[in-house]
Amino acid sequence: MLCRQVGLLDGGVVAIDGSKFKAVNNRDKNFTPAKMKRRMEDVEASITRYLSKLDDADRNEPAMPVAKVERLQERIAKLKEQMVELKAIEVEMQKSPDNQVSLTDPDARSMRHRGSGIVGYNVQAAVDAEHHIIVTYEVATSGSDRGQLAPMSKLARSATGTEEVTVVADRGYYSGEQLLECANNGITTYVPKPLTSSGTKRGFFIKQDFIFDVENDVYICPAGQQLTKGAHRSDRQSTEVNFYRHLTACSSCRLKPRCTTEKLRRIRRWEHEDVLDDIERRLEAKPDAMAIRRSTVEHPFGTIKAWMGATHFLTRTREKVSTEMSLHVLAYNFKRVLNIIGFGSLMAAIKAV
Ligand code: SF4
Repeated sequence: MLCRQVGLLDGGVVAIDGSKFKAVNNRDKNFTPAKMKRRMEDVEASITRYLSKLDDADRNEPAMPVAKVERLQERIAKLKEQMVELKAIEVEMQKSPDNQVSLTDPDARSMRHRGSGIVGYNVQAAVDAEHHIIVTYEVATSGSDRGQLAPMSKLARSATGTEEVTVVADRGYYSGEQLLECANNGITTYVPKPLTSSGTKRGFFIKQDFIFDVENDVYICPAGQQLTKGAHRSDRQSTEVNFYRHLTACSSCRLKPRCTTEKLRRIRRWEHEDVLDDIERRLEAKPDAMAIRRSTVEHPFGTIKAWMGATHFLTRTREKVSTEMSLHVLAYNFKRVLNIIGFGSLMAAIKAV
């Protein structure tokens, strides 16, 4: 409210990004099927090793000292107890919807982070591109950003109190459904397409090499042929997908070795692909969109993490972690506003609220 009042939050462009924050939960206290398998194998291997030492002691002369035998037996008993505990955790893990259990903070989740793993939360933030104020945030338990674009954009819009919001985000947010939802809600998005096509690596033409002619509803292929829409509409995953192809041209095309190994090349087009085409066009017209994103959203995350130190969150469970994050966001925004308008103006604005 205060930021809106002093004209620091007037909508415009917001950058959305996510960053992984460590939970109180130690990595050893988090279990996924892969980790559980490894832990059980380690325990089994230790039990086998100690049992074989006991066997050797039985066979060999002179006999192993009694104290040492007892120590080995104790270790085996402890490992067996550990195995029972692991099996109980495994039952809990299998009951959990995402096959994960965290013992210290039950809501913390194992997620990928900088080529390694982290047990924590995926904090989403929308940051105003002009004044770098955190417009809104959300603490997510899913490590993926793919489903976050529409909810975060809507939250950002209601926080700025404006109808018109433009959102920039990185490739991790690219999801047809999310982008469509944003478009349907009047939110303008700048999100680049992920470069997942294996065709590029193999030197094949990719979909971007085929130009869609809206008026005639055809794709123009690199050989200049018109690929028309097939009658068949499903690709097994979705009935909202059409395929475009040329029934005769491919077999005699000199570019075929660079196009397809099949009989003919087929181009897949989603029913709402015009939304994605619009985004592509917008990005081409605004080549600095991703630079704006980087310079906007990465600084707040870096600053807050530096304040937090090596351990990030101090509280447990998503609700409390969310409150903890809100205090950091408040502190960040407070300092930011102080830097922009100064102490006197800030005090005057607070009094006027
Ligand atoms: S193989 Fe078919 S789709 Fe590919 S360039 Fe040749 S005619 Fe066009």
